Amino acid sequence: MVVQTERDDMTWFRCEACGLMFDDREEATKHEDNCDAEGPSYIQ
Ligand SMILES: [Zn+2]
Repeated sequence: MVVQTERDDMTWFRCEACGLMFDDREEATKHEDNCDAEGPSYIQ
């Protein structure tokens, strides 16, 4: 899932699965389609 977040007066889009940040929603969505992370590793 892509989550929207604001930082430094900018809107970022973060891949919830792996934590990667994108400044473009399309990029984030495209990444998410290819993301093979099974879950945020920092939770485990
Ligand atoms: Zn990802």
